[in-house]
Amino acid sequence: MENLVIIGAGCAGLTAAVYAARANLKPLVFAGPTPGGLITTTGVVENFPGFPEGVEGFDLVSKIQAQAERFGARVEFSEVESVDLSMKPFQLKVEGQTIQTTALIVATGAAHRHLGLESEAKLERKGVTYCATCDGALPIFRNQPLVVVGGGDSACEEALHLTQFGSMVYLIHRRDTLRASKIMADRVLCNPKIKPVWDSVVTDVLDVTQGKVTGIRVKNVKTNEETTIPCAGVFVAIGHAPNNSLFDGQLEMDAAGYILRRNGTTETNIPGVFVAGDCADPRYRQAITAAAMGAQAAIDAGRWIGENS
Ligand code: NAP
Repeated sequence: MENLVIIGAGCAGLTAAVYAARANLKPLVFAGPTPGGLITTTGVVENFPGFPEGVEGFDLVSKIQAQAERFGARVEFSEVESVDLSMKPFQLKVEGQTIQTTALIVATGAAHRHLGLESEAKLERKGVTYCATCDGALPIFRNQPLVVVGGGDSACEEALHLTQFGSMVYLIHRRDTLRASKIMADRVLCNPKIKPVWDSVVTDVLDVTQGKVTGIRVKNVKTNEETTIPCAGVFVAIGHAPNNSLFDGQLEMDAAGYILRRNGTTETNIPGVFVAGDCADPRYRQAITAAAMGAQAAIDAGRWIGENS
């Protein structure tokens, strides 16, 4: 029987583990399929306080994990397969075993959103990717024209990163203004190797018959004109969707699938279940805000355990 289980080991889950371990709540963290969370797929994080020179996403979460373990948190890399929150203690199925816990913190994060094209799915890992940091340096992309889709900070970061490898980077955005922060947008718009393609959406990724990316079809949404841009890689960076399917029908969510918090705290609709990070945050989605919510969830869980045991 566990006292406190945390599902997810990104900035939110691991910060919750630091706070919970220091409060002697003996947390057990299940890291699941993407240990470290989405931040491990970015390069240098420049806006996490305390790192004036920036810090690699992977290094940041590794340090938070080490800090949590130093105070006694246990981090396991298993995946939680199902949860039953209708009974107390809560029941979790983890690789065939049942784990019971008094309290639960959900910090399952978010995953990359897809364009939804059939050709995109067929060419995934054959030139279509969702992570320039992970894949940008692959030989197939070297000195080739590359495409990034999106207009947010992620798309800008991917495009800037890819200028090291590609001959030219086309940034395809469905509007004519970037959503990205000004500093990132300015860096992109000043870079001679990045060519923005405004008001445009990708309608097809070529060429499924060859089993590799050779180009994209893009449609200008204002003129309806369709053109082909030859390229060797398509990097999709159009935002994220929360990883909350495990809790469908049990935890209250908004229309986009983000878990709803109650009373200005990290409480959910089920007493004893708390939530932190991108899985509950459609608005800020920063490493620091996820970490902050992780701290809040651990404090809320600690109080609830104290009052209910
Ligand atoms: P985002 O801010 O939600 O931006 C998603 C972009 O994709 C938007 O430009 C959006 O267009 C476009 N888009 C969405 N669905 C689309 C579709 N179906 N087809 C074509 N385009 C589509 O997501 P993000 O860039 O991943 O950033 C997420 C959060 O992480 C943000 O808060 C961001 O500030 C943060 N972040 C920060 C950094 C950094 O500070 N260095 C780096 C990465 C991420 P519209 O603009 O028209 O909606």
